[in-house]
Order: sequence, then C-alpha cells, then structure tokens
Amino acid sequence: MKIVLYATSDAAAWMAAFRRALPEAQIDDWSFAGAAAADYAIVWRPPAGALSTLQRAKAIFNLGAGVDAIPDLAGVASHVPLIRLDDAGMAEQMTEYVCHAALRCYREFDAYAEQQRQALWQPQPRVAKREFTIGVLGAGVLGSVVADTLAQWGFTVRTWSRTRKDVAAIASFAGFDELAAFLAATRFLVCLLPLTADTRNLLDRAHLSLLPRGAYVVNVARGALVVDSDLLSLLDEGHLAGAILDVFSDEPLPPAHPFWHHPKVVVTPHISAVTLVEASVQQIAGKIRRLEAGLSVTGVVNRARGY
Ligand code: NAP
Repeated sequence: MKIVLYATSDAAAWMAAFRRALPEAQIDDWSFAGAAAADYAIVWRPPAGALSTLQRAKAIFNLGAGVDAIPDLAGVASHVPLIRLDDAGMAEQMTEYVCHAALRCYREFDAYAEQQRQALWQPQPRVAKREFTIGVLGAGVLGSVVADTLAQWGFTVRTWSRTRKDVAAIASFAGFDELAAFLAATRFLVCLLPLTADTRNLLDRAHLSLLPRGAYVVNVARGALVVDSDLLSLLDEGHLAGAILDVFSDEPLPPAHPFWHHPKVVVTPHISAVTLVEASVQQIAGKIRRLEAGLSVTGVVNRARGY
C-alpha cells in the first residue's frame, strides 16, 4: 500500500507516527509522481492543483476538521472520497475553550479584573444561569459536544444547523429561515460552523445586530465567517458586550489590526483545538484499515456542501 503525506508543519513527527501506525505501508513525502501512484494521500494545506493528481487514490485524508484550506475542492476527482478528522481530541479542547469563555463572561471575570486594578470591592449583578442563553452555530462533531456540556452545566442552550437535531434539553434551529429567531434570544453566541460559500461573512452587521444588546460573540471556527469591521462597530456602539476570537481572516493577526488592543476583544492565536498527532494518526490508520477491508468510514466530506 502506497501513501503520500503532505504536512506543512511537524512533517517529521507526522511521518514517524504514520510509519509506526501503518508499518505495512510505504509512506513517502509528497511528490507529484508519487501522488499519481498513491493508494492514499494524507494532506494539510496542499498546494493548488496537487489533489487533482490523485486519480487512482482510494481516499484523501485531511489533517483537520475543516476542508476550507483545500484550494481546489472542485478539482478533486469525484470518485475519490475526501475524509476530514472527526474530533480526534479536538472536541474536548474546544469544550474547554468555550466553557472558559462562557464562565468568563457569565461570571463577569473581566469586570472584576478591572475592579481589582482600582481596588474596588463591588459585587456585580448576576442573571440566572437559565437566562444566559447560549447559542451554538453548528451542531456537528464539535458544536454538539460543546452544546451538550454547557447544557449539563445548567445554561439554556440552542443550536443552529442546516438539518434539525433532536437532542433533549437543547432547542434546535435549522436553516436560514430560523436564523433570526435563533439569534434574537442568544446572549452568548459560539461560532462552530465550517467556512463554506453559504457561511462566509455570515456574522455581518445584519445578523450580529439581531443578538440582544449586551451579547457576547465567540468565534472558534474560521475568521472569514465574521465581518471584522461590522463586529468592531457593534462593540463600539455598545450593542455587543465583548468578543472572544481564536480565528481570523488573516493569520497571524497583523500587528496593526484593531482587535489586538480593543478593550472588549480577547485574542488567542488559533489554539482553541489543535490537531493532535497521535489521536489523528490513530484515527486515520483505523479508517485506512476499514477501507482496505471494504468497510465504510465516517467523516466523508460532501463536496457540494463544502464540509
Ligand atoms: P461538522 O461536524 O462538519 O459540523 C458542521 C456543522 O455546521 C453541522 O451541524 C452543519 O449542519 C452546520 N452547517 C454547515 N453549513 C451550514 C449552513 N449553511 N447552515 C446551517 N448550518 C450549517 O464540523 P466540526 O467538526 O464540528 O467543525 C466545525 C468547524 O470548526 C470546522 O469546519 C473548522 O473550520 C472549525 N475548527 C476550528 C478549530 C480551531 O482550532 N479553531 C479546530 C477544529 C475545527 P448539519 O449538522 O445539518 O450538517
């Protein structure tokens, strides 16, 4: 079995881990000649045109949950399944990040940090937890785990997805017709949508204005889901209370970007859920073995939908 690997960072660690997990395979670094003969390709941010050479591959594995970094999705042969990572240790990390953000906002930790700088002893009013409604955009592999955890903590949680979900204690909103109603009662918005033609710039002024006054926005999906200038205006106008942002249209976030020093914005450098080498390699190796045995696998990307 021939496998080609295209990894942009930690290439040696990925190669060593795949060779340990699949000792029966011949695994090589990416070359166009090697790719043409490969049974499987494992890639992260491949160059434009690279995947169209994989005509005889049995599958292409993406070393991430989102496939928006694949420059030419339409150029990938339609008979070759493209498979993304399913969780592989990311749901737990994402839950940690979002729960921290939710508690930080719900329990007013930023206000207390500011009060401490002024030596001010002043309890803040607190709304009931059930009234601090959390809305999770995206109820997939990651969004569903985040939503579940927050619901178990006693927050009122709702999700928005393309198709309706049936989860006890979590209201499911589906499709663009229900987006306005979803946003209208969401005090803490978490974005966990894939970046596709339908979701790019979704969080613009028109949609963010539908959130109630004083709402918070957390983006842990992709920067281009948000229109930065619209988010900044709504923060400056006082409509939004704060934003916690892990992902940006331009990464690393340029030093002159207003997010860096905005008093209502928290910036982290795309660390909410990193790809874990061992967990990802084990998942991909397991799926290659299933495919070799003629079995089905989860995580196959729908090209038409883009996720
Ligand atoms: P997923 O399992 O594919 O889930 C995507 C969710 O979004 C699904 O619930 C889907 O609805 C919904 N959705 C997609 N398009 C929609 C639309 N047009 N309207 C309404 N809902 C729509 O993806 P995932 O594994 O949870 O990951 C989500 C994203 O997180 C990834 O694409 C990636 O960009 C990002 N991510 C970021 C990091 C980080 O470190 N910051 C790490 C990992 C992932 P259906 O359920 O109806 O299909």
